[in-house]
Amino acid sequence: APATADVIVIGGGAAGLMCARVAGLRGRRVRVIEHANRCGKKILMSGGGRCNFTNSGTTAANFISGNPHFCKSALARYTPQHFIEMVERHGIAYHEKELGQLFCDDSSKQIVKMLLDECADAGVRIDTQCSVESIERIDDGFRVRTTLGELRAPALVVATGGLSIPSMGATGFGYELARQFGHTVLPTRAGLVPLTLSGKHQERLADLSGVALPITAHCNGREFSNFMLITHRGVSGPSILQISSYWNLGDALHLDLLPQGDAFEILKEQRSRRPAAELRTTLGELFPKRFAERLCDIGFTSRPMRQFNDPELRVIAAQLQQWPLIASGTEGYRTAEVTLGGVDTDELSSSTMQSKRVPGLYFIGEVVDVTGWLGGYNFQWAWASGHAAGSAV
Ligand code: FAD
Repeated sequence: APATADVIVIGGGAAGLMCARVAGLRGRRVRVIEHANRCGKKILMSGGGRCNFTNSGTTAANFISGNPHFCKSALARYTPQHFIEMVERHGIAYHEKELGQLFCDDSSKQIVKMLLDECADAGVRIDTQCSVESIERIDDGFRVRTTLGELRAPALVVATGGLSIPSMGATGFGYELARQFGHTVLPTRAGLVPLTLSGKHQERLADLSGVALPITAHCNGREFSNFMLITHRGVSGPSILQISSYWNLGDALHLDLLPQGDAFEILKEQRSRRPAAELRTTLGELFPKRFAERLCDIGFTSRPMRQFNDPELRVIAAQLQQWPLIASGTEGYRTAEVTLGGVDTDELSSSTMQSKRVPGLYFIGEVVDVTGWLGGYNFQWAWASGHAAGSAV
């Protein structure tokens, strides 16, 4: 007779392990199928090796989705505080970096170990290096053929994540499975990703690679204030990664290079303090020096500050606060932190993540069309959606 379980979870990442643990604690016989040689590889590489495991200020407003209300129910029932309690119970030291972002003091390995220990305590069986060959609907559930044999269960949870970092084993498997069962998959694209520049836009900045400065990035009615980092191929840093999720090729993108205040007032103040100083020198005090020089080379003629009248200063100020960034694209899935789009939430229950089309089928985590901002929100969605499904299967 083929092996049976109550619940099969495909994907042993953040969402899959949380779901398996919660279902296991409810007495369900759970099998996790993971094709990589170990679980939670993305957790391991997250947050620069320290895993930004949640954000204490998580709200639905921190997510991008075709239906902005969909994530609310799961987020309300499994909050950052619930996850923090588990982290504390396992004696994992953590700290807040900024903006509510919680990181491990030591290593993201501790988060993976915690989840695996929790799964073991809940009686979850995990098979790594196990690939799915086919999935079929049968009378009383699902038949999953894998490289380790056939498995049947009345409930199947898809937790295979998104398309980012293909070198870590990301595949479009979850999206294909969704389509196989008649689900709509909204177009996917890379999110939280560096932007590339080309032609003269790239050449002007390429040799400044490594320079970082605080900015506010504006696009499609959204704005994010944080650092921008100039790279060999374009721009990155938290403000750029955040705005990239709202940017599509061809969209206008503007940078406020002086987010700390009113640029006109700042320049006027500089003019009265040091009227003989060149604009180049003045900008050199407001920006990293090499960046200021480049601004003058490409945008302004440098003269002593006293030679600029108010209207001229206003023009310079406006340019500094509305600097157009002409991006040619993104670095793509190779370096993206997340995948935007995915399984359409209209066809899922927001309280259980169960398919409205196929009873017993669930989708959780990044494969769903819910994408968080940078700052621990994506893991919080993985925990919350995993918890919602694990409580229902
Ligand atoms: P994943 O964690 O990706 O898990 C999916 C699992 O399914 C993987 O183990 C995969 O091997 C497995 N799988 C895939 N296909 C199959 C298949 N066909 N059969 C069997 N198994 C399969 N978010 C934050 O909140 N904070 C951070 O600090 C952070 N840092 C990040 C850093 C990087 C470099 C990257 C790439 C992402 C980061 N993220 C971060 C995003 C976060 O990692 C993801 O949003 C989160 O892991 C999604 O959870 P998931 O369980 O849906 O998918």
